[in-house]
Amino acid sequence: MFRSIRASLLFWYALILALVLAAFGAVLYHQLRRSAFQEVEARLWGLAQALAGGTERDGEKGVEMELPEDFLRTFRDQDKDAPYYVIWGPAPGQVFPSRPGLETSPPPPAGLRDRDGRREVVLEGRDGLRILVGQRTRKVLEKLHRFLGKMILAGAGVMILALAGGGFLASRALGPVRRISEAASAISASNLSQRIDVARTESELGRLAATLNATFDRLQEAFERQRRFIADASHELRTPLAVFHSNVELALRKDRTPEEYRAALEVCLKASRRMRGIVDGLLTLARADAGEIALRREPVDLKAVLEETAALLRPMADEAGIVLEVSGGKAAVTGDPDRLREVATNLLTNAIRYNRPGGRVRAAVRVEGSQAVLEVSDTGPGIPEADRPHIFERFYRVDKARSREAGGSGLGLSIAKWIVEAHGGTIGFASRVGEGTTFTVRLPAGPGSGPAAPPLTSPPPPA
Ligand code: ADP
Repeated sequence: MFRSIRASLLFWYALILALVLAAFGAVLYHQLRRSAFQEVEARLWGLAQALAGGTERDGEKGVEMELPEDFLRTFRDQDKDAPYYVIWGPAPGQVFPSRPGLETSPPPPAGLRDRDGRREVVLEGRDGLRILVGQRTRKVLEKLHRFLGKMILAGAGVMILALAGGGFLASRALGPVRRISEAASAISASNLSQRIDVARTESELGRLAATLNATFDRLQEAFERQRRFIADASHELRTPLAVFHSNVELALRKDRTPEEYRAALEVCLKASRRMRGIVDGLLTLARADAGEIALRREPVDLKAVLEETAALLRPMADEAGIVLEVSGGKAAVTGDPDRLREVATNLLTNAIRYNRPGGRVRAAVRVEGSQAVLEVSDTGPGIPEADRPHIFERFYRVDKARSREAGGSGLGLSIAKWIVEAHGGTIGFASRVGEGTTFTVRLPAGPGSGPAAPPLTSPPPPA
C-alpha cells in the first residue's frame, strides 16, 4: 500500500493509536455520563421522598404541605434548570405544579422516566397522592460535552506528539537501512572492495550488514578467482600460439628443404597439442563448474584402471628411464571408468614427469575399511612447503618451465580433484623435498558406493 516502510509504519502506528484513544474516550465518556445521571437521579429521589413525607391530602385545597421553607425554595427558583415538582390529588383535575408551564396531565405511573430532555421520578405519596420530581438534564449534558470537546483536543494533541515522535523514531531506525543500501549500491563489479560500515549500524541491522559484507567477501573472492583464471588461461594459450605463429612465419619467409618444413611442422604440432591440452582442460573445468558433466555410475575395479593406465604410460616411463611398478589387489568402486582413468593418468604422468633420471614410480591399490585407496609415489624432487597449499589450483605450477617443457597444462590436478570429489572421495599428498611425493586418492569402496545418484552435479569449482 505504501512505498516506504516509514510511511507504512507511521500509518499503522497512527491508526492503532487513534483506535486506542477513541475506545478509551468512549468508555470514559460513557462512565462519566452514567455517574452524572446517577447523581441527578439520587438527588431527585431524595427530593421526591422528602416531598412525599411532608405532603398530605387536604379536603379544601387538595394538598397540604408541611415542609421547611428552605426546602420548598429549591423548587421556586425561576431558573429553568432547577428541579420542579408536580403533585396530583386523587380526584381528577387536582394538579399542583411547582411552577406554571409544566406538563400536568395525566398522572404518570410510578418510576423513572426521560422526557423532552428531562429526568423525572414519580412515586406514590400518602392518601393516594402522586408525586413527580424532575429536572432538565441539559446542563449535565453540556458539561459532559464540554469535557468531551477537551478530550478530543487532548487526543489530537497526543496524536500529533506521538506521530512526530514515531516519525522521528522511524527515521532513526531506518537510517542504517538507507546507509546499507547506499553502500550496497556503491559496490559494483569494478569496485568490489567497498564494504558497509558495520560499526555504524546498530543491533539487528548490524548483523544484516555483517552478513552482506561476508557475501561481498565471497563475491569478491569468486570474481578475483575468475579474473585470475581468465588471465592465466590467456597467458597459457599465448605461449604455444606465439611458437606456432613464429615457426610458420619463419618457414614461409623463403623456400626451405623438406626437412626444414618437417622440423617446423613438428614444432607446430607440439604447440598445437599443448593448446589442445589446455583448451580441453579448460572446457572440462568450465563444464564441471556449470554442473554440466554427468558422471557414469557403474562398477569399476580401481586396480584394472591403474593397470590399463600404467600400460599406456610405460613407454613414456621407459623413455624417461623410470621404473614403473604397479601392485595391489582388486578394489571395487562405483563410478565413471573414463574419469577415474583420467585421475590415474594425471597422477602417473606427474610422477614420471617430476622425477629424477633412473627414478621409480610405485602405484598401488588397496582396500582400507570402507575405502578404496590409490597411491602413487615417486622419487622426484618433492613439492616445496610454500607451494603445497596451491598445488590443486588451476594453472599452478611449481616450476613453470619444467611443466611446459614436459607438456603440462597446469590443470591436471584441478581436474583430478574435481573428479575424485564428484565421486565422493578425497585426494591429498605427502611430500619430502629431495626425496619424493606420494599422492593418495580415497574413494568409497564397493559397488553401491561412489556417486550418489546420476546425473551428478559438480562440487564447487576447484580453487
Ligand atoms: P601440470 O600439467 O603442470 O603437471 P598439474 O595440475 O598436474 O599440472 O600439477 C600442478 C603442479 O604440481 C605441477 O606443475 C608440478 O609443479 C606439481 N606436481 C604435481 N605432481 C607432482 C609430483 N609428483 N612431484 C612434484 N611436483 C608435482
